[in-house]
Amino acid sequence: MKLIALPAFADNYIWLLHTDRHALVVDPGDSAPVLAWMQAHPSLQLDTILVTHHHADHTGGLAELVARTGARVLGPALEQMPVPTQGLQQGDGFDWHGLQFQVHEVPGHTLGHIAFWAQPTGQDPLLFCGDTLFSGGCGRLFEGTPAQMLDSLDRLAALPGASRVCCAHEYTLSNLKFALAVEPGNLALQDHWAHCTRLRSQTLPTLPVALHTECAINPFLRSRQASVAAAVRQHDRLAVDDVTTFAALRQWKNDFR
Ligand SMILES: [Zn+2]
Ligand SMILES: [Zn+2]
Repeated sequence: MKLIALPAFADNYIWLLHTDRHALVVDPGDSAPVLAWMQAHPSLQLDTILVTHHHADHTGGLAELVARTGARVLGPALEQMPVPTQGLQQGDGFDWHGLQFQVHEVPGHTLGHIAFWAQPTGQDPLLFCGDTLFSGGCGRLFEGTPAQMLDSLDRLAALPGASRVCCAHEYTLSNLKFALAVEPGNLALQDHWAHCTRLRSQTLPTLPVALHTECAINPFLRSRQASVAAAVRQHDRLAVDDVTTFAALRQWKNDFR
């Protein structure tokens, strides 16, 4: 099974997974990059589209792709979708040509946001997490609360460390700049910054990234670590427990330039 990141808009990735005959895409905000790729690979059939949440940069290509390919769409049961969608909730699963996907509800960025996890035979697992977890960061809280997002990230962080984190945006360098302001002494973070800077200088994606790397460098997965919590509390005296610390960290990032 092969995994490809199709760039879309300024900084989105539409993830494409394919076998010898079938293809699946995740969060096609634009149909054009997907249709161009399918045209270049005429032996493959796009038969499944996964959607993590309702924002237009993740759903804008659905109508055109469904009209052109007849692909089935699987997405969040709790959100409005622009095309008929098989709604999925926490604990649901489905099969795609022998690959078993698990569905995790991860509210925070939006209230119905879901993530998809699967373990292809002989490969590291895949995590399609939309705008919940980014490399070095997390999604903005447009609909959910800090407590919901912290719980969602805790549950993603509990997945196998080798999981390949497939986020929907290339926000890594700006996230890592903030992460370095929070944890300047984190050596794994300094290494990852150098690695990602090299990748971006060649306009290569910084994704996917291993979940265990994220757990070592992402302040939003590390808000209970003494180094992160101390930095947040120095920044915001209202940060007194896990949730208020996470909320203050998210607010600090919102204001960070
Ligand atoms: Zn979004
Ligand atoms: Zn997005």
